[in-house]
Amino acid sequence: MTRTGLIGVGNMGLPMARRLRESGRELLVHDIRTERAREAGGAAPAVAKSPREVGDGAEIVLLSLPTPDAVRAVATGMDGLAEGRKVKLVVDLSTIGPTVAREVAAAFEEKGIEYLDAPVSGGVPGAEKGTLAVMVSGSKPGFERARPLLEVIGRPILVGDAPGQGQALKLLNNFLSATALAATAEAMALGVKAGLDPGVMLDVFNISSGRNTATTDKFPRSVLNRRFDYGFRTVLLHKDVRLCKQFGDSFEAPFGVLAAVDRAWERAAAELGDKDFTCIVELAERPLGVVVGGVPSTANRARS
Ligand code: NAD
Repeated sequence: MTRTGLIGVGNMGLPMARRLRESGRELLVHDIRTERAREAGGAAPAVAKSPREVGDGAEIVLLSLPTPDAVRAVATGMDGLAEGRKVKLVVDLSTIGPTVAREVAAAFEEKGIEYLDAPVSGGVPGAEKGTLAVMVSGSKPGFERARPLLEVIGRPILVGDAPGQGQALKLLNNFLSATALAATAEAMALGVKAGLDPGVMLDVFNISSGRNTATTDKFPRSVLNRRFDYGFRTVLLHKDVRLCKQFGDSFEAPFGVLAAVDRAWERAAAELGDKDFTCIVELAERPLGVVVGGVPSTANRARS
């Protein structure tokens, strides 16, 4: 059976690997954290020592890497994927912004390898359930070739025909999602300071016009119970917001909301680093001397 390559098995890549294996695919996995690659690949022979070795053994290779620099290193660095003898199609599920996506696509094209830009949304829960939105841009034949694999992890949508368009859409989505989470953190902390029950607040927001992905999902799942285990590092969300700001700045557009949200997440990344992005609520709690959730309230008990 032809193997599917997968490079990067972190918070997102690992549940994707699990789903692909359960769908009957054999994987060839690489990650700089070897133990992680072993966990994702199943048996030891499914682990490759370098991106190039993945490209020697698989025609289609998926990437789920943290940053633009990591994608560059994997694609064109030493023992890079572009040197692989077998690889024909690279499907990049990482969030790296339109500029680097175009740059990497050109480098692969020189080697006769097609690159699809395919960032995802839906977080770790979406990766586990196979419900990620996959925003693909590239050629229609390339999309059709990747579609059966992408349908294992989510809902692939061809959003454009040029690399970088999927990235642009993903950055805009994460700008909206980051805005909602940062704003909800401040609103919830202020509400608790006003003596309101956080569970009741969420119930009311969720049938009112303040409803958003933080009130419906992130706060009930990871904040009220103080688990902070949603599965996205704060530094990575700031990377996305910063990439979106750079995209806006490239048009010299004076976008005040984008600038304010970038500042909020810049501070969060400096203080929280690799902690889960839902911890941003701590920054709003601290000056008010409050804690959102944790103490079982009537509404919280009703949820569990
Ligand atoms: P992560 O940091 O948990 O995982 C990245 C993995 O890549 C790690 O296992 C790391 O060891 C590996 N890696 C790093 N550099 C490497 C290299 N040079 N060669 C090989 N492996 C390397 O990140 P994640 O949360 O899984 O996110 C992956 C991508 O998906 C990011 O671009 C992120 O922005 C995007 N994304 C994440 C989420 C989420 O909720 N976590 C949601 C949507 C999109």
